[in-house]
Amino acid sequence: MRVSNNENHEALKIEGSNIFADKQTFMKEFVQTLATNSSKALDEASSIDFYNTLGTMIRSHVSKNWISTNKQYNQSGEKQVYYFSMEFLMGRLLQSNMLNLNILSVVNEGLEELGINFASISEEEHDAGLGNGGLGRLAACFLDSIASLQLPGHGCGIRYKYGLFEQKLIDGYQVELPDYWLKEDYVWEVRRSDRSVNVRFGGYVETKVVDGDILFDHKNYETVLAVPYDVPVVGFENKTVNTLRLWSAEPSNSEQDFHSSNRENYYKFLNYKRSIESISEFLYPDDSHFEGKKLRLKQQYFLVSAGLQSILNSYKRRSNQSLQDLHDKATFHINDTHPALIVPELMRILMDDEGFGWDEAWEITTKTCAYTNHTTLVEALEKWPVSLFQELLPRIYMIVEEINERFCRELWAKHPGEYDRISDLAIIAHNQIRMAHLAIVGSFSVNGVAKLHTEILKQREMNNFYTVFPEKFNNKTNGITHRRWLMNSNPKLSSYITEAIGQRWIKQPRDLIGLVKYAKDAAFQEKIAKVKLDNKLILADYIKNKTGIIVDEHSIFDVQVKRLHAYKRQLLNVFHIMELYNLLRENPNIDMVPRTFIFGAKAAPSYTFAKKIIKLINTVANVVNNDPYIQGKLKVVFLENYSVSMAEKIIPAADVSEQISTASKEASGTGNMKFMMNGALTIGTLDGANVEIHDMVGNENIFIFGLTSEQVLNYYNYGGYVARDIYNCDPRVRTVLDQLLDGFCGNDKVEFKDIYYQILSNNDEYFVLKDFDSYVEAHQKVDLNYRDQKEWLKKSIINIAHSGKFSSDRTISEYATEIWGIRPFLVE
Ligand SMILES: *Cc1c(COP(=O)(O)O)cnc(C)c1O
Repeated sequence: MRVSNNENHEALKIEGSNIFADKQTFMKEFVQTLATNSSKALDEASSIDFYNTLGTMIRSHVSKNWISTNKQYNQSGEKQVYYFSMEFLMGRLLQSNMLNLNILSVVNEGLEELGINFASISEEEHDAGLGNGGLGRLAACFLDSIASLQLPGHGCGIRYKYGLFEQKLIDGYQVELPDYWLKEDYVWEVRRSDRSVNVRFGGYVETKVVDGDILFDHKNYETVLAVPYDVPVVGFENKTVNTLRLWSAEPSNSEQDFHSSNRENYYKFLNYKRSIESISEFLYPDDSHFEGKKLRLKQQYFLVSAGLQSILNSYKRRSNQSLQDLHDKATFHINDTHPALIVPELMRILMDDEGFGWDEAWEITTKTCAYTNHTTLVEALEKWPVSLFQELLPRIYMIVEEINERFCRELWAKHPGEYDRISDLAIIAHNQIRMAHLAIVGSFSVNGVAKLHTEILKQREMNNFYTVFPEKFNNKTNGITHRRWLMNSNPKLSSYITEAIGQRWIKQPRDLIGLVKYAKDAAFQEKIAKVKLDNKLILADYIKNKTGIIVDEHSIFDVQVKRLHAYKRQLLNVFHIMELYNLLRENPNIDMVPRTFIFGAKAAPSYTFAKKIIKLINTVANVVNNDPYIQGKLKVVFLENYSVSMAEKIIPAADVSEQISTASKEASGTGNMKFMMNGALTIGTLDGANVEIHDMVGNENIFIFGLTSEQVLNYYNYGGYVARDIYNCDPRVRTVLDQLLDGFCGNDKVEFKDIYYQILSNNDEYFVLKDFDSYVEAHQKVDLNYRDQKEWLKKSIINIAHSGKFSSDRTISEYATEIWGIRPFLVE
């Protein structure tokens, strides 16, 4: 092991890497690979060349363990989990792979000696933005934890040609650009054409009786070739390399030959090719919102059918066991209802291809599938019109119909005559297929993603299902990988933690609790303060480069970064900023700690209301940032194109974490956990995992405000809230709302009328006005608390100390033992 001159990663270094014996070995290989790959010498190459070189080197070194991991899983017959998700928001992989391979120091040193800056190479990697937000990022954190805990588990997803759109701000409005992330070759993927499978769409089904058996003959369908691209998932300091398999849609060979056999058909072929490729063309940009488009249903079935076929193919290749025991060998995890077609697709394969009878197939299926619910928002519920579904997936529809009939019959036997109950629970009703119902009925486990969310599922939203299947319901509070969100994004903080409590927390994040005894330690507090200030300076610099806005690093960095959604209430945040500005306009000498409000948020392109809020934030920012009268006490920054790599820059610099959703609406949140782990204090409602953060740190180390979920749900059920009453009684609220219409922001007067009317005429569905007063009060507490830096730092350290619970390693251990029934497997 060599001594590192890179203080950032010094304390994270546990043992010498076995990939590069030393710095010299690395440098030699780097220069050679660069020459081989790009035919360039060191002084001719660009950062992209360097990035590609380093990425290629790392991937090829990983391949040895990748091969042995696969081989050993297969030979041992170990049970494996397959995490099916329409989204994997992976972000960048270079640094996280390097951390996990323990080569950060040696590579850093080597590059430095070659005169190359690692950070700038790292910036060349295009984020893999194959997800919208929390749900997709959760899937990515889970993959990291599965591999790091040496668990046999893989991701199954779609290789979208375009990830989540790139957001630009033009005159304060969001504009969307396509995210063509594959412009450069993606160094981490390997195309596996040899593992391609066919997926069928459309056509019709003929039912025949042959020797007394009913056979289903699917005819006149269109075949799509599904080609997998594999990405290695590297475990932290172990030899496990799992697989993220992403599927790409291509014209099938037979159709290709048929269509292109003569010139006349050539143009038909091009059209056909385009329509096939559209299946994996782009990610739907809606977060927590159902888009009932045929192409989306195609994507879902494409993922599920390709994924299942390839898993079952490899299962059959390696064992002579019957699929009878499938549940001992595999669990298929259904991440939200998007891949719920696993249930009927597995039934189809077992019955039509493998010859099982219904009962046997159903038993295998329901022992093998597990489902996670991510939201109770009604607008997010997936309900497919029967006609669209049946036309696209005729055989699958027949199976869903049969599942529904049998389920309803069972219910009828238990609750004869209870029509309402049965139609509430049915999978097909009112000409719609309810995907959540299909997922619950077809799975042995149904979990929520935070304690409160699971309770709401059991006691309210899914109470009828809970009554039928109480044993299926369980909670798995979400988590985040502390490797990406602390060790990689905040290396200095990580070093100071290790200096104080040793390095065991790295493998046992719960050990962070040892920091509690340093909470009042002046020397440790000073280090925490220094790290935060350093991170704030870096972010301030970034902000200046990106926006031209100059922010004061001694101001409170108050951050809300997440998707833009009415329920997340960015609007409450803006109203508070407008109120602060109004106070400062009245008296610029008002006693307050200067604040910098930082936003990052993408709105779904069709979500008009959310886009208005973006415009409002930018409009307010423009007024506030350019008013010399308030003496720079207030700054508002909107950073465009919020993404994983941007989150990694922002979160370590935050003092205050805004987690202010309407109670009961945010299932868990994971942003809240990232901030906590980086020492920000939360201002939040008792919603999602905020409740558990509050339980961990105690009332004095978090700023809780607003209605409880109980109160919110009671208002929804029984009424009793009148937004206009608050407008009438609270002059602060009245002023702010009136400013939306009076052109205060220098805008034309109709710009924000929709916001005004949503609040006053539609009675403020998300209780923005109701929670306003208590939110302002909580912010006053933040201001007062921040002035006592010793107290603030103590709270900050207490938060870091209790954040170990929110490592996704904890979450994944729970999934592994309580749902999946898998155990660590040591790859040799
Ligand atoms: C963590 C994360 C999210 C989820 O944030 P929430 O505050 O939980 O909604 C969304 N987008 C990105 C890029 C993230 O890293």
